[in-house]
Amino acid sequence: MKYISTRGNEQRMTAAEAIIAGLADDGGLFVPTELPQVSMDFIAGLQGLSYEERAQRVLGCFLTDYSADEIQGCVQRAYGGGKFDSAKVAPLTMFDDVSSLELWHGPTSAFKDMALQLLPQLLSTALKKTGEKNEVLILVATSGDTGKAALEGFKDVEQIKIMVFYPETGVSRIQRQQMVTQAGDNVAVAAVQGNFDDAQNGVKKIFNDTAFNEALAKNQVRLSSANSINWGRLVPQIVYYFSAYADLLDAGRLQLGDEVNFTVPTGNFGDILAGFYAKSMGLPVHKLICASNSNNVLTDFLRTGVYDRNREFFKTITPSMDILISSNLERLLYHMTNADKVGGWMRQLADAGRYEADAGVMDRIQNLFWADWADDKATADTIKDVYFSKHYVLDTHTAVAWRVAQNYQKQTQDTCPMVIVSTASPYKFNESVLAALGVHTEGQDAFALLDKLAEYNTSKIPQGLDSLRTAPRRHSLVCTREKMAEKVMEFAQKKRN
Ligand SMILES: *Cc1c(COP(=O)(O)O)cnc(C)c1O
Repeated sequence: MKYISTRGNEQRMTAAEAIIAGLADDGGLFVPTELPQVSMDFIAGLQGLSYEERAQRVLGCFLTDYSADEIQGCVQRAYGGGKFDSAKVAPLTMFDDVSSLELWHGPTSAFKDMALQLLPQLLSTALKKTGEKNEVLILVATSGDTGKAALEGFKDVEQIKIMVFYPETGVSRIQRQQMVTQAGDNVAVAAVQGNFDDAQNGVKKIFNDTAFNEALAKNQVRLSSANSINWGRLVPQIVYYFSAYADLLDAGRLQLGDEVNFTVPTGNFGDILAGFYAKSMGLPVHKLICASNSNNVLTDFLRTGVYDRNREFFKTITPSMDILISSNLERLLYHMTNADKVGGWMRQLADAGRYEADAGVMDRIQNLFWADWADDKATADTIKDVYFSKHYVLDTHTAVAWRVAQNYQKQTQDTCPMVIVSTASPYKFNESVLAALGVHTEGQDAFALLDKLAEYNTSKIPQGLDSLRTAPRRHSLVCTREKMAEKVMEFAQKKRN
């Protein structure tokens, strides 16, 4: 299987080459040239397997230039060895009416670990396979969770450096603490004065700056990304849709072939897009339900076909979804139409901040997706309701999805089993979660709040968060969007310790 750009550049790449490149030369995203199909036997065969075994089978459908042994090695290093605090890696907690797919048992307590533990393995294997001699510098713009998860995944990996930019305001106290204490001899962390889109646009600009990239090449450095635009970020996420389905089969909640719904708390459209790939491969998914917060640009798009980022930007209690440009939507559009149209729309988005997809494309999209959003109050109410009715503590992002799933069921009367994709441990967003539960949090230290939340939660404080109490600060760089390129160059030229 080969990979091509969403914007029409004809160059066909292997998965390994696409993962090294990150972004296509024409600014597009890499997509597979065909969507592999699996049989019901393939799905039935996932029953009773470990997450690692399921991952090997699903990844094998897309990474056709990797050997089975290479994939197995990557998967073991990513998900084995006790890095996840659940043996099931992505356990499904089942209630009478819904199930919660918990994607936050990895080292940083959020779902980005699912992809960012595997991506460095796929990338370092790709460097070996292609004989790449340059050092690879990973640039990441993060709204909070990606940064730490990428730092953890890439730290001390040979032939790779990583630099993470986060918005100075707009990440939680714990998220900031996680990043500024990051250890590793190949890591840099900087705060950008602005919001997530400023950081992300800054990074995109650096990727697209030919002169800058040539200057880096003189230093034997080439850029790559760990943002969810990298195919190596996206492909690991397809696995857990299959795994959830297999767990429902294992539990006798489904007959093989029965359809399920997934509700996904959405920001950059990576997580839910992986669900689209799973459905396209033949996983029996009825609807993919896209849940947004008050930055509901995707809700509007999926309902009307108009994508318009010219709107007020809200800071919410779900910072990982505070996004107005959902990069991965470009991949969906490509699969629904063609590169000419996608290229045009993306130019309009860059120039005017707006584009409108045509009715034919929207018919196809609306057949697959349903969309709604929840504001902060509805989110907090949902945390409280679910705690009191189920003794299950949700993080804020998961609560957005939970509320939207309820809205969907009420409005459509659809009775397919519902899986809610749970993207963060409540401990990671403890302040907002406690406030939702009616606990006074004003002026309290983030770690006192962890202890407080432990009184409500049946699951323990994750080790990665607990240990931050005493971790020393290692990073203090702050810069404007205009200075980002300069900081990247300084780091690229810096010798490893
Ligand atoms: C990144 C993130 C999301 C959004 O996922 P996308 O793939 O960007 O749509 C939701 N919740 C949490 C906790 C996240 O970290």
